[in-house]
Amino acid sequence: MRQIDECHEILADPYGYAERFKAESGRKMVGTFCSYAPEEFIIAAGAHPFRIFGTGEKARLAESHLQSYCCSLVRGALEDALGGRLVFLDGVVFPHTCDTIQRLSDIWRLNVGDCFHLDLVLPVKLDTESARHYLADVLNRFRGELGGKLGVTISDADLRSAIALTNRIRGALTRIAGLAGERPGTLKGSDFSALVRAAMIMDRNRAATLVEEVADELERTPGGKASPKRKRLILSGGVCNQPDIYTVIEEVGGVVVGDDLCTGSRSFSGLIDEKAEPAAAIAARYRERVICPAKHRGLSERAENLVRLAREKEAGGVIFFLLKFCDPHAFDYPHLREALEKAGIPSMAVEVEDRLPADGQLRTRFEAFIEMI
Ligand code: SF4
Ligand code: SF4
Repeated sequence: MRQIDECHEILADPYGYAERFKAESGRKMVGTFCSYAPEEFIIAAGAHPFRIFGTGEKARLAESHLQSYCCSLVRGALEDALGGRLVFLDGVVFPHTCDTIQRLSDIWRLNVGDCFHLDLVLPVKLDTESARHYLADVLNRFRGELGGKLGVTISDADLRSAIALTNRIRGALTRIAGLAGERPGTLKGSDFSALVRAAMIMDRNRAATLVEEVADELERTPGGKASPKRKRLILSGGVCNQPDIYTVIEEVGGVVVGDDLCTGSRSFSGLIDEKAEPAAAIAARYRERVICPAKHRGLSERAENLVRLAREKEAGGVIFFLLKFCDPHAFDYPHLREALEKAGIPSMAVEVEDRLPADGQLRTRFEAFIEMI
């Protein structure tokens, strides 16, 4: 499908795309690291939110600023910034999430020049009355600060348009993800991953049209190609910038029917109420959407979500995709695995750094897991 080819092309050279898009559109570019950076404000300010994944360049410059036990996402992003590959960025937003991102924020502020720097200290605990007020206040303050840095006033009307635009992307990705569960094989997992990640990088107007076209076309396509013998699996973990993992799973007889990933369903789950006061509506989505390990809403919510997802999708097992040195996901993993065990759902974990382990090794482990379930 040509729309999916377009996504793969953007992901093959995201920085080249960003430079071209900036030159053509004249928009300021604002880097983000996580979906807790509210891109609706950036779009409403007339700028472009650009998700930084890092290009996987070997860390040389970043080594002198980071401990050896930092995740490859942060290491790669800093390496690209220090190596001058992110000079197209006019600013970067650091949401208060994991410790590593918080420390990266300090290192970035002190060492990466020519680009504004905003911290967004969101609450960690999301389910209290005080968190509700605090979150709304923090977002309103961010709105003013971002507008100040970009030299604009972010109006409610612009914010409403940005919410409508990002809701179109979320809505279409939700439809596509739903098809993965209902008709596995309709779309390759690596293509789904490309759609989600490219939509975090490309012009959001184009992204909305593109993902809607893909959703329409897939819904028109009768049936899926996956054999009923394929083992239905859930992928759970953090930032997954390695679409090959889907390919290996598919090659050994599995199919991913749902996910709980930062670069998957968790990033687009939950629409923002378009009728409510816009900043409050953005805050409400953050409070209510499926949580990640950097946020809290009760001790067992993540485990309950994962068990519910596996049951809803009739999955035979869960594969945890863990980025090496990603503490939030590593801390949650034993508890999640135990909850799955109690629910009778088998699981396995793969830990990767900036690239997948040797293909044969991963293939053998997935084959053994799929045979077992
Ligand atoms: S785990 Fe949470 S904080 Fe970390 S990248 Fe994912 S969504 Fe963001
Ligand atoms: S949540 Fe994990 S992968 Fe994401 S920045 Fe933090 S440590 Fe790295």
